[in-house]
Amino acid sequence: MPGNMKYKSLRMKDHPLANRDGVVQEHRIILYDKIGPGTHRCHWCKVKIKWAPGKGPRRGAIVTDHLDNNGKNNKPKNLVPSCNSCNMWRSKKIQPEESFITLPSGIRSRTEIRYCKVCVKMFHHPLWAIKKNPVWGQCCSRSCDNILRWTMRKQKISNKIGYPVPMRNRDLQIEHANEEEEETESKGRKIRR
Ligand SMILES: [Zn+2]
Ligand SMILES: [Zn+2]
Repeated sequence: MPGNMKYKSLRMKDHPLANRDGVVQEHRIILYDKIGPGTHRCHWCKVKIKWAPGKGPRRGAIVTDHLDNNGKNNKPKNLVPSCNSCNMWRSKKIQPEESFITLPSGIRSRTEIRYCKVCVKMFHHPLWAIKKNPVWGQCCSRSCDNILRWTMRKQKISNKIGYPVPMRNRDLQIEHANEEEEETESKGRKIRR
């Protein structure tokens, strides 16, 4: 959210999130009602965060994130808990030269351009996923990922037994390339029935 955006605040002295002046931002009240007190996970990177009264972002504290980037849309559906660092990079507008994907929800997520370790195809890897698990994002698809995992497992076994694991026909197939054909085939079968 733009830093200069004025959020609506309410005077609610007894609210658990009230600051020293007894003021709470409206979106924090609504999110608090939606998800409840205590510890939650960041909507983006899943790190554990908890409610802390008062303003001022701090480490480990819940920041209320407006999914549609509209600071005035305080509908519960539009509010999610976020850690401070995810909220920071979300609030900076994505520039045309930056890479991003548009999620089904319409939200844009920054990405890093990567090349698949199996089929070398270019793909977008979301930045929040890098934070969540740096090992992710080696492949463009689940089927390529399966191939990579199987290759690595075979390598491990080979190292253990001291000679290469014999190839089977199955290993030579690159499922990814056949995926589309298989799909049409199964659809065709359905129609025939
Ligand atoms: Zn986060
Ligand atoms: Zn691939």
